[in-house]
Amino acid sequence: MNDNEIIQRKTKILATLGPSSKTIKKIIELTKAGANAFRLNCSHLEEKDLEEYIEKIRKAEKIINKPIGILIDLQGPKIRIGEVSKNDNILESGNSFFIDNSKEIGNSKRVYLSNKKVFKSVKKGHLILIDDGNIHLRVTSVKNNIIRTKILQGGTIKSNKGLNLPDSDLKTSALSSLDKKYVKIAINFDVNWIALSFVQKPSDIKELKKFCDNKISIMAKIEKPSALKYINEICEIADGIMIARGDLGVELPIETVPGWQKEIIRTSRAKGKPVVVSTQMLESMTSFLTPTRAEVSDVANAVFEGADTIMLSAESASGNYPVEAVKMMHKIAFSTENEKNYNNIIANQIEQTPNTTPDAIATAAKTLADELSSPIIVCYTESGSTGIKVSRVRPSQTILTITPVIHTARKLSLVWGVLCLLQKDEENLEKMINSTKITVKKSGLAFQGDKVVITAGLPLKVQGTTNLIRVTTVK
Ligand code: PEP
Repeated sequence: MNDNEIIQRKTKILATLGPSSKTIKKIIELTKAGANAFRLNCSHLEEKDLEEYIEKIRKAEKIINKPIGILIDLQGPKIRIGEVSKNDNILESGNSFFIDNSKEIGNSKRVYLSNKKVFKSVKKGHLILIDDGNIHLRVTSVKNNIIRTKILQGGTIKSNKGLNLPDSDLKTSALSSLDKKYVKIAINFDVNWIALSFVQKPSDIKELKKFCDNKISIMAKIEKPSALKYINEICEIADGIMIARGDLGVELPIETVPGWQKEIIRTSRAKGKPVVVSTQMLESMTSFLTPTRAEVSDVANAVFEGADTIMLSAESASGNYPVEAVKMMHKIAFSTENEKNYNNIIANQIEQTPNTTPDAIATAAKTLADELSSPIIVCYTESGSTGIKVSRVRPSQTILTITPVIHTARKLSLVWGVLCLLQKDEENLEKMINSTKITVKKSGLAFQGDKVVITAGLPLKVQGTTNLIRVTTVK
């Protein structure tokens, strides 16, 4: 695979790390294959594991000398079953199955559940779904912390899988006390994104933002029907959105998920919030080297919809072919972006631009670059917001963000079309423009005679002040 292709690809790849990809060597291989950022799923990690993974990513980053983003995905109020034996794990439809409070390893007859609220909320007749809805159970009785169920749809039950209760009313807060421990680690290690699971309302995001003192960008995972009621407000307040299709497809009729995916991508893009499409994108590649045609179409569809980032879960975390899955995702995204209809499709989806100076400058930068046949838009940015604003208008040109802040460079690894260069701020505007010409020529992103569109905020070094646009010619 060619490095240039990876740089040119606009849609970013977020790869989940896990047992199949936990060494520094593998992390480097995944990055070289096209992963831009890594997701650490707290549902499967102890606190010390999380710290170790972060340290490994940072070591890999040093070796390859390229900013790598880290997203930690909080478990939230997700309910998970306990451990299950690998030898006795087939649930037969029609049989009874028990969910209880005994920590013993589970089997085809019973499993442990730590969440005590479930035993109080579940009633006879309620449906219980396990492992993204692969297993269906109907409650037949609840007594003394033992839920007796009838297996409606059997299958293989695996350790620590999610449990959904579409019929039960469970009152929970999106940020659990366990989550708070992981957030503290994220702050200490200067992680770039935190994904909050099972967001139901805008105040869930506010609570997390307050808890981490606005130091980390917050991504709202959309996986509950209640979040869809507030999707505009959630997109407004969150820094990014993840369409968590696994749980969304369990909590909602599965056939409605593609429509919601379109709606959520449009809403996020209109508000200029990076949006991630996740779960089962190349699921069959956990066991096979070739994805199904439908999976290829699914990845391409997310790219055509203008998603900022496409995500791999089990494919890169626990599958047999983590590197091949990233390579495949890259190939599909790159090929889709080079389809003759891609630029038109992407441009036609742009909604009305918000009425702010940075948004107007981003639109103007795209127009100028189009009119002047410029190959590149350069954004000087402290917080990354200028880069995100320019990305929002989805220009066909390269977007090069230049920042002195490593956290910003890493954060932008989830933003559509943005390349990031870590560089000290220049003292004044003239020095900045001269250094831009040298940088873009040296990096091969523009050639002698090319016009370069530059956006920045004056005074320099102050966050959120995008108010300047300049055109210069490479000498
Ligand atoms: C999902 O439900 O699609 C998801 C991304 O979350 P998790 O992997 O934590 O279930």
